[in-house]
Amino acid sequence: MMVSECARCRARWFVRRLMCPKCGSEEIRAVEVQGEEEASTRLLVTPAGLPESYRVRLVRADNCFYLEMLNE
Ligand SMILES: [Zn+2]
Repeated sequence: MMVSECARCRARWFVRRLMCPKCGSEEIRAVEVQGEEEASTRLLVTPAGLPESYRVRLVRADNCFYLEMLNE
């Protein structure tokens, strides 16, 4: 899965950011991480503009947890 990483302090998040909340850097890049699925669920009530239903999963990678939205 792809996550965002700060090029300066290497903090990572599953959401896109324009600035690192940890060090203030604006150098944010996308990096791929490999992890294991810890849990998943299907959302049936979703925000406007998103699919009527989709699956989200909690993935553990590099001792961090990430939420991933799956179009399935
Ligand atoms: Zn940073």
